[in-house]
This record gives sequence, C-alpha cells and structure tokens, in this order.
Amino acid sequence: MPTSNYISNENVRTKNEPIQLKDYFNDPESACHKKRIPLWLVLLDNLPTLVLIILGALIIFRLSTIGAVGYVIYSLLSIAWFWAKICPFCHHYGTFSCPCGYGIISARLFKKREDKSFRKVFKQNIGVVFPTWFVPFIIAIYLLLTGYTREVLILTITFSLTGFIIIPLISRFVGCKNCDIKEDCPWMKKKTDQLKKGQGIEVPV
Ligand code: SF4
Repeated sequence: MPTSNYISNENVRTKNEPIQLKDYFNDPESACHKKRIPLWLVLLDNLPTLVLIILGALIIFRLSTIGAVGYVIYSLLSIAWFWAKICPFCHHYGTFSCPCGYGIISARLFKKREDKSFRKVFKQNIGVVFPTWFVPFIIAIYLLLTGYTREVLILTITFSLTGFIIIPLISRFVGCKNCDIKEDCPWMKKKTDQLKKGQGIEVPV
C-alpha cells in the first residue's frame, strides 16, 4: 500500500476503509489537528536557528558590516517566505501540531492554499533558506584561508555544529520524529527511504 496516499496510523484508520490524506488533513477532529506541541519543543526547534543566524552574522561581520546586516535581514525574510509559500499548503497550518510554531504564525498572515501539493511547494521553495546556512560557511572558509584567527575558527566550528549537526538532529529525532505523516514530507521521506533502503526494505516510488 503506497504510504503517500494513506494514513497508516492505527488511531485514524478503520480496518476496511483507509482514510485519504486529504480528508485527514482537513478534519479538525483528526489526531494530528488535536495534537498540541509543548512550548519547550517549539523553543527547541527555533532557538538553534536563532543561534545560527547570530553566529552567521558574526562571521560575515568580520568581512563586512553591511553584509552582516543584509544576512540577518535575508534570513528573517526567508523565514517569512517559508510562512507565505510553504506553510499554507501544510496540514499543520493553523494548528498547534506544527513542531516549530510557524503553522500558527502563517495562519495569522496568509490564507490557506490547496491548489498545489505540499510536497511540490516544499521542493520549489525550500532552497530560499539555504543561503542562511551556506553563505556564512563559505565566508568562514575564506576567512580561515586568508587570515586565520582562533576566533574565526571557533565561530566556524560552532556555526557548523549548530547548522549541520544540531539543527538536523533536532528536526529528525525530536521535531519531526512523531509527525503522523512524515512519509509525505520531502524532508523526512528522503531520510526514511534511506533508512529503509539500508535495511533492505523496498521503497515505493
Ligand atoms: S510543519 Fe513545517 S510546513 Fe507545516 S506549518 Fe509547520 S513549519 Fe510550516
């Protein structure tokens, strides 16, 4: 049974009548909509991103003050872009089941959309947040090569640990771990498929 079309959660599936994802998303009584993510989890999801942006700005600041300010503005705008272009298509939109709280903020600012699939808009728009990770990293490497200092090295290591290890680990093992439809999310599906392939389990395309 293709997992992308059906909910496999036993709480929401009857034996002979699988529930379509679309119906599940729109049902305010579904377990997903009723779930309320605790505040500590919302903070755990957002604080490392805030730390990442501050560290990124500190790295770029060593090269250019205007660049550092521009980086902060871009990073914040990219989050707003996420609220505008991705969250309105998500089943967590407008619910407290969104692990990072964006779903609630997005619902206050933008209308719900259903004219495209979540997976499609996610793939089309997720790239907008990549510069927040890669621009400071590239500049840090440049700074290390052209004018090595201990401070830049510490900033680079802290930035890399936060952006490339801590944030993905939190997302994988805490924020998205218990999502009822993680197999429909391009971010989590890729990792789940890799895991299954590693275990020799056939993955439907
Ligand atoms: S789960 Fe992700 S896409 Fe969905 S509302 Fe929350 S932040 Fe937006």
